[in-house]
This record gives sequence, C-alpha cells and structure tokens, in this order.
Amino acid sequence: MFEILEKRTLNPTVTLMRINAPKVARKAEPGQFIILRTDADGERIPLTIADFDREKGSVTIIFQIVGATTEKLNHMNEGDCLQDFVGPLGRATETEGLKKVAVVGGGVGCAIAYPVAKKLHELGVEVHSIVGFRNKDLVILEDEFRASSSKFVLMSDDGSAAKRASVQMLSRSSSTAVRSTTESSLSVLLL
Ligand SMILES: Cc1cc2nc3c(=O)[nH]c(=O)nc-3n(C[C@H](O)[C@H](O)[C@H](O)COP(=O)(O)OP(=O)(O)OC[C@H]3O[C@@H](n4cnc5c(N)ncnc54)[C@H](O)[C@@H]3O)c2cc1C
Repeated sequence: MFEILEKRTLNPTVTLMRINAPKVARKAEPGQFIILRTDADGERIPLTIADFDREKGSVTIIFQIVGATTEKLNHMNEGDCLQDFVGPLGRATETEGLKKVAVVGGGVGCAIAYPVAKKLHELGVEVHSIVGFRNKDLVILEDEFRASSSKFVLMSDDGSAAKRASVQMLSRSSSTAVRSTTESSLSVLLL
C-alpha cells in the first residue's frame, strides 16, 4: 500500500500529494508518469511524476479535480493509503546536451514542466521558466520554479499576477525562438 505522506491544496482545484513509493522514486525521471488506483474498486488514472526524492522514497503528484477519481483522491488524507501506484511509466524527457532552455508551462501543465526545469537546473543548464495561469489565485509552484530557474517569467490571462499575457501567445513567439536555436543556442520545451 502506498501511504499519502503529505497533502497540500495548491489552489481551489489543484492538490499536491507526496506518496510513499520507494521503488518508483528509485527509477523516476522527469517526463514520466504513474498510474494509480485509490481503492480496489477504483478506476486507474495516469498522473505525471511532479517530483521525487530517492532518499526518502517519495513521489509527488499534482492533480486537477476534474471527475470521479480525482474527486475521490482529493477526499483522501495524510496517513491514508492508495491501492496501486504503478510506475515510472513512459519516456523520460531528453535533457542531454542542452545548454540554455526556455521551459514553458500553463496551468496544471506546470506540474509537468517543473520536474524538467528542476532536472535541467541540477545539470547546470541555464533555465528560463515561463509559466502562465488564468489569474493569480490559480498560480502554483512559483517558489519551486524560481529556485530552479535563472530567469522566471510569470504571466496571467487577466493581468492579476504579473505580466498580462498567455503562454499560448508565447508559444507562438517561441516557435521563432526555436527557429533561431542555432543563433541563440536556446532550446524551448513547451509543456
Ligand atoms: C500521461 C498522462 C499524464 C497526466 N498527468 C496529469 C497530471 O499530472 N495532473 C493532472 O491533473 N492530470 C493529469 N492527466 C490527466 C488525468 O489523467 C485525468 O484528469 C484523470 O484521469 C481524470 O480522471 P477523473 O476520473 O477524475 O475524471 P473523469 O471522470 O475521467 O473525467 C475526465 C473529463 O471528463 C469530464 N467529465 C466528467 N464527468 C462528466 C460528465 N458527467 N459530463 C461531461 N463531462 C464530464 C471532466 O470534466 C473531465 O474533463 C494526465 C493524463 C495522462 C494521459
């Protein structure tokens, strides 16, 4: 059984949970996901590995409450145990040979972008993180991104948190950055 070690509400519809799963933590890499079941009758749902701690044997997930299983998961608390927590699954994000990277994430997608930014930062890559949300109340992982980035840009659709812009707009201008990669040696990861 996989104990919930920590539960934190990040915004009204997004929750972070740190799960005791030493075997998953041992092999986890950014970009990979797990499949969990809350109980024996539960549906299997995939969630991205938002963070992991190999020494403590824990894996962090961040989920948006959208339907039956994420609702049920959100009703569980620290000390409760998940029935299944299978992983790591999927291909890890390629991080080899990068020197300067813009990591772009929007909304709950930042849960996917953050572990990539963190890994690149640990590898000594210059990380520019650009994250966007609908408004300031929905901002998640700001401190974590700041700690893993040499440059951090926060945007919101309505301008209530820092710059008024959307990461979709930025994605379009980022394509230009991708095209000029050879000139600026800037790689852009849109997550
Ligand atoms: C590889 C992978 C990684 C993922 N990583 C993450 C992650 O890190 N964080 C995250 O939050 N999500 C992630 N997801 C998405 C996540 O798996 C789904 O949000 C989750 O499976 C939803 O399960 P649920 O039972 O709560 O919702 P479901 O009940 O399956 O509902 C899913 C969708 O259907 C809609 N819906 C539900 N009931 C109704 C209804 N009666 N009428 C109309 N529409 C309805 C919901 O609004 C929702 O949009 C990932 C998905 C994949 C494939």
